[in-house]
Amino acid sequence: MALGISEPWQVVKIEFNAESHRLDLYLDFPEGSNFPCPVCGKSCLAYDTDERSWRHLNFFEHLTYLHARLPRVKCDEHGVKTVGAPWARPGAGFTLLFEALIMTFAKNGMTPKAISRLVGEHDTRIWRVLEHYVEASRAKEDFSPVSMVGVDETSRAKGHTYVTLFADMEKHKVIFTTEGKDHTTIENFRQDLEEHGGDALKITDFSIDMSKAFIKGIGEKFENAAITFDKFHVIKIINDAVDKVRRAEQKLCPELKRTRYVWLKNEENHTDSQREIYEELKDSTLKTARACRIKDMLQKLYERPAEDAPAHLKRWYFWATHSRLTPIIKAAKTIKVHWDGVMRWFESGLNNGFMEGINSLVQAAKARARGYRSTKKMKVMIYLIAGKLNFDLPRVMPYATHTK
Ligand SMILES: [Zn+2]
Repeated sequence: MALGISEPWQVVKIEFNAESHRLDLYLDFPEGSNFPCPVCGKSCLAYDTDERSWRHLNFFEHLTYLHARLPRVKCDEHGVKTVGAPWARPGAGFTLLFEALIMTFAKNGMTPKAISRLVGEHDTRIWRVLEHYVEASRAKEDFSPVSMVGVDETSRAKGHTYVTLFADMEKHKVIFTTEGKDHTTIENFRQDLEEHGGDALKITDFSIDMSKAFIKGIGEKFENAAITFDKFHVIKIINDAVDKVRRAEQKLCPELKRTRYVWLKNEENHTDSQREIYEELKDSTLKTARACRIKDMLQKLYERPAEDAPAHLKRWYFWATHSRLTPIIKAAKTIKVHWDGVMRWFESGLNNGFMEGINSLVQAAKARARGYRSTKKMKVMIYLIAGKLNFDLPRVMPYATHTK
């Protein structure tokens, strides 16, 4: 009963060894039992068997294994087929409940290495379980409702190994990840989207940073999609320009040394000492102070009602390009080139804030795992963490749920 098995299966032998902390359960079926053909379900007589073993959930502190001979049936129509065990998926060395336990650990942030140590199985076997369930549940995903997509990249290893994430911006879940960050990345996404019932023509919006490769790829592969440039990315461009102005100026004005965050942070996030410096310098004739005022005006764009936004950005552009501050002029020109995508925010309301959150979860998991040996492994972890996948496994209830 505890194993949840039913006719014709029965426990025929139990071996318990307290010294080796081991419990072995032998299951079998009576001679002459019938089993359904795995293809058509027709009841057939078992004519031979195949010995197998599975690791099961521990019985208290004792490692528990199931052993059984799996029947093979000879169906008139489908020939010889091995009948699956109800407690495990075909070919697996663990029972479904044991796999469910592994998946529960993994979904809650344990690394495969840590799971491997905890359950005493090699981490290759743990990875195989994770890979199987991620793959199987992704295969069932339906992307037909997807219309708004966010794109962000994350690094796998030092150097230039990038993995790009694609998220459904309405369901807030990662739906695709792939190695690289060039325009073929977008092509790969389109292919995967269509393999899951999605329609490239139904994608109305992308939220991205100002990557040339992504802009090109989206233009070619998603003809109905408008691009929104993530506002955090827009602000970062101007912030970088402010910092360039400050670094050049501090050579002449030592009081600007160590004031980087005075200018980059919003006022409400200043520490007391940062606020003091800011109050003293913000209205000064310093170039850095002027650059900062220009930055503030760009930030205020996002507080404007949609109908005032184009005029606000035009006035800002005029001011910035007449600032005589080279980094600011350069930033303004970058923004001009991407004008439509900056303005699109007022319609789409999209930003990559939630993807930044996913990115930090992914990076934290990577740090716990001390990196991944392959992109394949990293992708599995990303789907586990951020894919909101449905693994279709029995529920593991390690502690009894009390019901009256
Ligand atoms: Zn059959």
